[in-house]
Amino acid sequence: MSSETASFKYLSTRGGSYGVSFEKAVLDGLAPDNGLYIPEAIPSLPDDWHQNWLNLSFADLAFQILSLYISPEEISPWELKAIVQNSYSTFRVPEITPTIALDGDRRVYLLELFHGPTFAFKDVALQFLGNLLEFFLVRKNKGKMGKDREHLAVIGATSGDTGAAAIYGLKGKKDVSIFILYPNGRISPVQEAQMTSVQDQNVRCLSLDGTFDDCQDIVKALFADSTTKESLKLCGVNSINISRILAQITYYFASYFSLVRSGALDPSTNAIRFITPSGNFGNVLAGYLAKRMGLPISKLIIATNENDILYRFWKTGTYEKQPIVNHTKDGVQIRDGARPLDEYVKETLSPAMDIQTSSNVERLLWFIAFDICATDDSIIGLDTKRYIAGKRVQEWQNALKTKGGFRVEKKVLDIARKHFESERVSDPETVTTIREVYGWRNNYILDPHSAIGVAAALRLDKPPPGGCDVALSTAHPAKFSRAVEMALGNHKGFQFRDILPPQFIGLEALPRRQIHVEKSGDLDGIRKILIDEVEKELERQHS
Ligand SMILES: *Cc1c(COP(=O)(O)O)cnc(C)c1O
Repeated sequence: MSSETASFKYLSTRGGSYGVSFEKAVLDGLAPDNGLYIPEAIPSLPDDWHQNWLNLSFADLAFQILSLYISPEEISPWELKAIVQNSYSTFRVPEITPTIALDGDRRVYLLELFHGPTFAFKDVALQFLGNLLEFFLVRKNKGKMGKDREHLAVIGATSGDTGAAAIYGLKGKKDVSIFILYPNGRISPVQEAQMTSVQDQNVRCLSLDGTFDDCQDIVKALFADSTTKESLKLCGVNSINISRILAQITYYFASYFSLVRSGALDPSTNAIRFITPSGNFGNVLAGYLAKRMGLPISKLIIATNENDILYRFWKTGTYEKQPIVNHTKDGVQIRDGARPLDEYVKETLSPAMDIQTSSNVERLLWFIAFDICATDDSIIGLDTKRYIAGKRVQEWQNALKTKGGFRVEKKVLDIARKHFESERVSDPETVTTIREVYGWRNNYILDPHSAIGVAAALRLDKPPPGGCDVALSTAHPAKFSRAVEMALGNHKGFQFRDILPPQFIGLEALPRRQIHVEKSGDLDGIRKILIDEVEKELERQHS
């Protein structure tokens, strides 16, 4: 390993914090300067990784990878091993994230990430984060009683899948309350039922009249208010939490090794591409870290739906919120100046990717800005290079906030394009892809998000012999009935209820617990709900 690796410390992308421990980075979620935590250096792989890791189980692989990011002095190896093992014991298949052949001729494979408790890829990270928070709290509260015990209020905004996965990661855990904000009427019925049917008292779902971005803005505002943050001990579980990104690295390795073991991938070709359906850029960022660590990924393909800020950035170098458009009679799009820029999110068949901006791009931008400084001999010293990278990220993020976007120079875009490409997939194409793949392989049914990844994969040139394209499958199709019905409803012999996992049957009839919040801008109202609920939970746990 190079001398820079294994610092085990974290810094903020906006330059305000350095030398932060893993525990602090996880518990803070967002850094005090509103930046995101990233590892001070991306660790490189041990020399013998290929041979030593080839046959490891998923949990053992996760342990090896996380050991490169977490100091053994913070979490001892046997404790980390136990946390990891616990986290993946809740999955329904032994491989945890199997890689299957979708079309052998075209060399397209599918990395199935939905075998966790809520049938979403987010379980991979949130089962881990739940156990991690429990570990930190048990350690902090050892020997403490009653009001001396530290209590965390975990809060997250969800466009669907994060909420359920976070709730299943934390329900019933001691010394934690969990609050999930979701846009009323904009998540799928199964997702809403999954979240609101959980009866554990430490779980609270808040349905908000507004969009996912409104929910995310409220979460951000609560974190930005230091009094609320301190008094409630707020902790974030959105993909801004660095532990989630790190936990997701594992399946890129697991899929690579699985393909090598089966003989589908010849490792000497270095020709494996991953195609990741992307929203907040957390999933594909984990692939980037895997690549930078040394996993020989030739390209990461960012697949978007029509909320395409990522696609547009890779095409043009301008990262910009979607201008608001109206469709006039003759199909010409005109800008509607009456609404603020922040209100535009297009509703699609893949709602977990309906976002306006992708938070985790900030992390990539820091790494790119730093890479540029790193090769610039006129800038002396690691600290200065980091400082400059942080400044650049700050400027970009300020422009995003005040002007709705920014443009990067060619150097930045070139580096971004070296690692990534992007494809945008429409709703009609999503439906067609579900239908098409259904005919291929024992009537395999893709969920709409996964279909976006597969559609993007099918646009690429076929990989060379010994190479593979792996599309990430991020959810079980039963969670997104609308798109699946549109694609297969008329198909002879297809019945939606045949694909329902037993866990979903009767879910929507279960009693629900939720709080409805009428106005999306009602920050004070939501703050009060949080304070009251934590108070109740403390009384309950201490009585
Ligand atoms: C969250 C989610 C995505 C998007 O992942 P990001 O990490 O936000 O890019 C894609 N598909 C599904 C089903 C999801 O739940």
